[in-house]
Amino acid sequence: MDDDFPAGMVWLVGAGPGDPELLTRKAERLIRRASVILYDALVGPGILDFAAPGARLEHVGKRSGRHSRDQRTIDRMIVEAALAGERVVRLKGGDPAIFARAGEELGAARAAGIAVRICPGVTAASAAAASLGTSLTLRGLARRLTLVTAHARAGEALTLNWSELADPDATLAIYMGKVVAAQVAENLILAGLNPDTPVAMVENASLPDERVVRTRLDLLGLVADAALGSGPALLLIGSALADSGAAVGARCQVMVAARPPK
Ligand code: SAH
Repeated sequence: MDDDFPAGMVWLVGAGPGDPELLTRKAERLIRRASVILYDALVGPGILDFAAPGARLEHVGKRSGRHSRDQRTIDRMIVEAALAGERVVRLKGGDPAIFARAGEELGAARAAGIAVRICPGVTAASAAAASLGTSLTLRGLARRLTLVTAHARAGEALTLNWSELADPDATLAIYMGKVVAAQVAENLILAGLNPDTPVAMVENASLPDERVVRTRLDLLGLVADAALGSGPALLLIGSALADSGAAVGARCQVMVAARPPK
């Protein structure tokens, strides 16, 4: 078999949601072979343990509001390492092709004539569904799964197509939505989504401190503030999230379903 990781090459590798067992075998092999690993804040503990003893590990982590390195710097670090003949793994939480700035990094590598490939990972929405013990799609009821980011620049309002997102036949998986949860709920309700639409939030999906919170759309803002901590959290909205009572994987479950006071 041809060597798929020669010196001077870059792999964008999905580290999955955190649990090292959710790493693909390919990801593990690439991590073991890398001479340089540039990793995100969302790469779970235990995953970097696969790195070779002499590998250079560099944290280029980004968590919203606390960008430690801007994207251009990261692009440049990837290119420089590859041009210096390193085997570069750019390790990202979840899947590298989902809300992970892979477009910029692929573009920067290709513009410099560097070979670059993607190794997929388990995305947060899949990990959250597993924690909930729920299917994100339901035959005839939830025919569409929409992955959407609610990330807005500091001080800017969210500009999403709310009427399109307020689809009762869809499941919405909202990434980076915790701090704007109240705005999301308000806009979806204004756009016609039923206020009692089931909502589930999963924080630190697949990690030991995972937390699952179930509520309804009109309580989402309140509950997100009260029940979530500082970890990454995914918001899931739609009839598929009706409580099946079977969150077997969840380590901590909170349920808030009372009607709000008039
Ligand atoms: N590429 C990643 C997404 C990066 S965007 C993926 O495919 O999963 C960062 C957002 O992903 C976080 O704000 C959160 O909404 C979600 N996220 C990532 N890891 C998570 C986890 N372990 N549990 C819950 N949500 C997570």
